[in-house]
Amino acid sequence: MNMYNENFLVVEDDMQIRNFICYALKQANFQCVTALTAEEALSHLISQQIDVILLDLGLPDFDGLEIIKRVREWSDIPIIVVSARDQDREKAEALDLGADDYLTKPFSSTELMARIRVALRHLYKQNRDRQQQSSLVVGELRIELDKHLVYLEEKEIHVTPMEYNLLALLFKNIGKVLTTGYIINEIWGAGYGRDTQALRALMAGLRRKIERNPAKPRYIVTEIGVGYRMMDI
Ligand code: CA
Repeated sequence: MNMYNENFLVVEDDMQIRNFICYALKQANFQCVTALTAEEALSHLISQQIDVILLDLGLPDFDGLEIIKRVREWSDIPIIVVSARDQDREKAEALDLGADDYLTKPFSSTELMARIRVALRHLYKQNRDRQQQSSLVVGELRIELDKHLVYLEEKEIHVTPMEYNLLALLFKNIGKVLTTGYIINEIWGAGYGRDTQALRALMAGLRRKIERNPAKPRYIVTEIGVGYRMMDI
């Protein structure tokens, strides 16, 4: 089950429950990042790669439902709501906003792990579906993954290996915002630090090749303060 050492974000202001969840996650060899407030949760979400969110709805600063709403604007990351509120209305609202599942307090670590297994199955399936394709198309842009070739309006365009890696990464996550930190780790490796200038330069070079008007990009848009998104057009 635990294939990639997934990173969980546990958003919960109750220390006992937070510790209980993190302990259970660590026992199963998952990583656990914690946030006590919604603001803290959002700042973790833009600065690091999170695989699954466990979210309490009653937070001290603003409602957990607001986090679901915001996250769903740019990501399909699994969200499991963890809440003391067992009212159907909040539960339905959370699911309507895009939460994947719901756990009502109190719950056992067995129940917690069962929900996590379901969430991870969804996550792996999404990734597998994308990774099994050998060619990806968006608008007039096509990328042949097994041959490492890029075509624009059926004409092959020459990209550097770094530009190719950046484009393939965004393509595989089409529609989703990738944070600057995540992209840098994927392209240069984790030891490279956060050289956003190098990424900006690489992006500018790639845009000159694939965008008709690099100042008004159609394929790869900048999400200010967060990262970049390949548009699903
Ligand atoms: Ca709470």
